Amino acid sequence: MLRRLCAWCGKELKPKPGPDGITHSICPTCHGKILADLSPATGEGPPSNSDPQSN
Ligand SMILES: [Zn+2]
Repeated sequence: MLRRLCAWCGKELKPKPGPDGITHSICPTCHGKILADLSPATGEGPPSNSDPQSN
């Protein structure tokens, strides 16, 4: 089982089937924060980006 951890907050994400190991990814929460961080603060509202995730 390949464990996936968020590299930002350390939250454990859904593991992927596969060889044992740990990989780092990013959770939706941190992903949103980083996107907001990258966006220039122009006083506009938060970007309404929907993440279509096939679950
Ligand atoms: Zn995170």
